[in-house]
Amino acid sequence: MQKNVIPHKFSITKEQRGELKDHNALLLWFTGLSGSGKSTIANAVEHALHERGIHTYILDGDNVRKGLNNNLSFSPEDRTENIRRIAEVANLMVDAGLVVLAAFVSPYEKDRKNIEDIVGKQNFVEIFIDTPLEECERRDVKGLYAKARAGEIQDFTGISAPYETPKKPDIIVDTTTNTVEESAAIVLKKIEKKLTN
Ligand code: ADP
Repeated sequence: MQKNVIPHKFSITKEQRGELKDHNALLLWFTGLSGSGKSTIANAVEHALHERGIHTYILDGDNVRKGLNNNLSFSPEDRTENIRRIAEVANLMVDAGLVVLAAFVSPYEKDRKNIEDIVGKQNFVEIFIDTPLEECERRDVKGLYAKARAGEIQDFTGISAPYETPKKPDIIVDTTTNTVEESAAIVLKKIEKKLTN
């Protein structure tokens, strides 16, 4: 905390906000290669939660890199800063009582650990969308792998930048053996207790 920035003590607590919403707040963090299925599965999970009256918000590259983080590149330092800012925003949203779904490649173990430190272990669920590079490249949803292979994109995760596989994620989803619906169901089942306890 910066010197002379002294927090005001506001009277409504996170717990009170949670009681009003009637569910716990969480950060569901989807990590995996580009095209692995993070956004698709996050979307399906959000849809199911919304139907149940759970208050949600999705953070992804589209709504973050175009605004808050539009001054950041894909260098290792900027990737770290990208994730740090997202984690701080997600932390505020969790404090506000939301279930936040964040879909980011987030290739570095230390950055993902930092997210957990920022939002707190009890609020954090790390979900590894485990799709092999070959399959992501075969899908090439946005044509980015072809561009990366052609040398038109630098620092592309899986091709010219590393992806550090999560060592102990809370949830692993294999999208080569599960459909989108099955993948979403795996996530929903695993977070059930954390949502309502
Ligand atoms: P990311 O957000 O990880 O970059 P996307 O969700 O944008 O990836 O793209 C994943 C692509 O893979 C989508 O076109 C989706 O339809 C497809 N896909 C095929 N099978 C699955 C699955 N089981 N789970 C998630 N996505 C899948």
